[in-house]
Amino acid sequence: MLTHLECTRCGEHYPADRPQTVCPKDAGVLYARYDLGAIKRTFSSARLAGRAPTMWRYDAVLPAADPVSLGEGFTPMLASREYPNVFIKDEGLNPTGSFKARGLSACVTMARHFGLKKLAIPSAGNAAGALAAYAAAAGLEAHIFMPKDVPAANRIECDYYGAHVTLVDGLISDCAKKVAELRNSDAWEKEKWFDVSTTKEPYRVEGKKTMGYEVAEQLGWRVPQGIIYPTGGGVGLLGMWKAFEEMEALGWIGPERPKMITVQSSGCAPIVKAWDEGKSSAEMWSDAATLASGLRVPKPYGDYLILDILKKSNGTAVSATDDEILEATRHCAKVEGIFAAPEGAACLVAYRKLRSSGFFKPEDTVVLFNTGNGLKYLDVLDADVASVARAPSPAKKAESTKPPARQIGGIIGPY
Ligand SMILES: [Zn+2]
Repeated sequence: MLTHLECTRCGEHYPADRPQTVCPKDAGVLYARYDLGAIKRTFSSARLAGRAPTMWRYDAVLPAADPVSLGEGFTPMLASREYPNVFIKDEGLNPTGSFKARGLSACVTMARHFGLKKLAIPSAGNAAGALAAYAAAAGLEAHIFMPKDVPAANRIECDYYGAHVTLVDGLISDCAKKVAELRNSDAWEKEKWFDVSTTKEPYRVEGKKTMGYEVAEQLGWRVPQGIIYPTGGGVGLLGMWKAFEEMEALGWIGPERPKMITVQSSGCAPIVKAWDEGKSSAEMWSDAATLASGLRVPKPYGDYLILDILKKSNGTAVSATDDEILEATRHCAKVEGIFAAPEGAACLVAYRKLRSSGFFKPEDTVVLFNTGNGLKYLDVLDADVASVARAPSPAKKAESTKPPARQIGGIIGPY
C-alpha cells in the first residue's frame, strides 16, 4: 500500500520503488505515504488481536518487504509506581537495548529489499549497535565509523556483531566526513553502499512510528494527554506524530492528539532554545556536552518538523541538567525497578517540572519514553557510583556525585 515518498518541505513526490535519501531540491526529509483509504477498507485495528508482539504487527502500514526482525517493538507500557496516570514505555527491552532497533529494523529491511550490500553509519551510540545487529541478521555488511572514545558497550557489541568498525581519531563530525568521502568515491554505486544516517533515508521514521501505534493500542485506542520524549535527532517524535495522523485517517483514533513534549539536556538544548524564542528552526548548539550521549545532537536534521509538532500539539520543550538526570536515573531504578538510560530518566525530570508548573494535572494520562537500557551506559554511570562510594559522608556526596560531562564520542550530527 506504499504509494510514494513525499518531501516534508516542498511536498514533491518521489517513487518508493528504489533507494532514496532526502529531497534533491531542498534536502527535506522524505516521508513514506500509503493509500490509507484502501488500507481502511481492507484492514481494521480489531485484526491486530493475536498477532505477534513485534512492531511488524502493523505491517499494513509499513512497506511490503520481508522484514528483518529480531523481535523489536511492542515493548511494555508500565504503570508508574509513583504517579497514578503516568506510564513508562520501556524501550530498553528492545533488541540491542534501545529504541534504535525499530528504525534500523525497518531501514535494513528496505536496504535488503533494494539489493543494497554495504550500509554505512557515522555513530557514537546505540544506532551503531542496532545497525550492526540488523545487518548481521540480514546478511549485509555494516560499516560503522565511530570516534575512538565511544562508550564501551557500543564499540564491543558492534565488534561481536561482525561489523566493520573504523575508530576515528576525532568527533562524530569527523566520522561523517569519512562516510561523505566514501559517498563521493566510485565504489559507492558499484559496491551498493548506502548511508543510513538518521532522517537521511525514509524508513527509520517508519520503524519509529510504530511507537505511536503501540501507545494507542496499549491504551485501548485512546491517546494520552501527553507524551514526554527525550529528543536528540527526534525521529521518534516525528514518527509518532505521523502515526497519529495515519491512525485518524484509518479511523482507529479520533482527531485528539497528545501534547508532545521534548526534553533535552541543558548541556545541549537546541530545540528548547528555539522553542523558547518562538523560532521555527534550531540554531547549531556549540560546545554540546552531556552525559546523556543520545541527546548530544547540536542541530537535529528534522528540527523544523519537531518544532512544528510541539506547536500543533500545544506541547512544550523542557531542559534537564546532568545532575537532575543522574538523580532521576537513580530514583527511577529504586522506585520503579527500571534501570533507565539517562535520556529516559530525563523524561521524569520533565514530568516533575510540568506537574509543578501546572502544565499537567494529576489526572492527565502521560507517557514517558525510556529510550534505552541503563546497562549500556555503565561506564558513565560507574563514575557516579564510584564517587558515591568514595564520599565520606552524605554531606560530601552532594558535591562529588557528578561525573565529568565527558565528550564521549563527541557530538552527534548534523554532518
Ligand atoms: Zn523538497
